[in-house]
Amino acid sequence: MTKKILILGGGTGGVVAALTLAEAKKEYGLDYEITVVNRDEWHYMPPLWMDVALNGTPIDKTRAPLKGLEKYGVNVVIGEATKISLADRKVELADGKSLGYDYLFVTLGLRNGWEDIPGYAEEGYHNYSPEGAVELHKALNEFKGGKVVIVTPEIPFRCGIYPMEMATVLGNRFHVRGIPAEITLLNPKIPGTNLDITWSLGPDIGRLWTKYFKMYGVKVEPHDGIEKVDPTRKVVVARGGKEYPYDLLIKIPMPRPPKVLETDEFPKDPSGRFTVAKPRDFRHPQYDEVFLTGEHAMPPVGLGTAGVFIHAASHKAAQVLLRDEFGVGTVQEIPPVVCVAYVADKGFMGACEVTFDGERYNWRNCYNVMESYLMKMTKHAFYQGWLDRLRV
Ligand SMILES: Cc1cc2nc3c(=O)[nH]c(=O)nc-3n(C[C@H](O)[C@H](O)[C@H](O)COP(=O)(O)OP(=O)(O)OC[C@H]3O[C@@H](n4cnc5c(N)ncnc54)[C@H](O)[C@@H]3O)c2cc1C
Repeated sequence: MTKKILILGGGTGGVVAALTLAEAKKEYGLDYEITVVNRDEWHYMPPLWMDVALNGTPIDKTRAPLKGLEKYGVNVVIGEATKISLADRKVELADGKSLGYDYLFVTLGLRNGWEDIPGYAEEGYHNYSPEGAVELHKALNEFKGGKVVIVTPEIPFRCGIYPMEMATVLGNRFHVRGIPAEITLLNPKIPGTNLDITWSLGPDIGRLWTKYFKMYGVKVEPHDGIEKVDPTRKVVVARGGKEYPYDLLIKIPMPRPPKVLETDEFPKDPSGRFTVAKPRDFRHPQYDEVFLTGEHAMPPVGLGTAGVFIHAASHKAAQVLLRDEFGVGTVQEIPPVVCVAYVADKGFMGACEVTFDGERYNWRNCYNVMESYLMKMTKHAFYQGWLDRLRV
């Protein structure tokens, strides 16, 4: 009988799993149907929201219609998953429909958590959603100078280099426009050290950020936690009471699991923020037919909360399914991941080697491959090429 593969989430992880499985189905003549469920009709490329915030790039340039997957033989259902019953192999949607499966991929990203710090939800700007990016763009256009505070309350967080990217890009923007601004990065410390997240990808990338911080006078204030944001006095209060006044507050959300995964059927790590999967193959700890490869599953297996890791994890999990359940192909271990980031008016390519020690992945050995204007263009070209695969 035709097997049913259901993929929850049409973001980075969902699209990579769907395309890997669709390609194998064609190549090996396999008998299964692939369905992707997503709460809205769009596949977004979140890194491009930086361009929305800074340059007013239209939102349409940051997304492609998920229905574009249909040309690869993938079914697309637009709907919000409200309940997942792993014991019954059933997913319920907000419109009352339900979908069964033989194999399930859960790739639902992370929820932006703002609520755990008093004042944090109400104050400041961010570009962790398309709407947020449009608001931040307006705020940046209206900003005529003063204190800019970029606050990251905790680690890990979505896209671990984003605050440093934003600080250097803004440093350059204010410099070329002659806007008198003082930028402060309120960065959490790396646990067990006195170093802040500037250094979380190792010394080579840390030195790169530091060079640009010096160039644009960006100050780094490491903290042990954020107590509150006081919107009347316009200050961020760090643990211990130290206050940081701001004219413009740019905030990074705290990672929280998607609501539909907040059940006992999806065990969490000790922090309660991330779902647990078996590191070797990304299978659910109890249900072998369920694979967890979204951002919500990365830190417990030792991988980072960034698209490059989710891409690698989803590709590997799809290969595991093909080899173990359909008897085709081989499983490639996660290769070094390469990421192209913004820095000031340029881009740089960073590479992180990934090793697997039998229990967890390790990837902290990162280095700067190239820093150039060309890298910024490469980043844009890569993302637009990625989205073009779904554009019809
Ligand atoms: C501003 C920003 C910059 C970034 N920059 C980079 C970068 O330069 N490099 C990099 O590698 N990564 C970057 N990232 C991170 C990268 O975008 C994410 O790690 C990646 O998109 C996560 O993939 P995912 O499939 O787990 O989740 P997502 O891509 O977030 O997709 C999850 C999907 O699930 C859907 N969904 C959620 N809940 C439900 C539900 N209940 N029912 C149905 N559908 C649901 C959502 O609508 C969404 O389409 C950045 C992220 C942000 C926000």
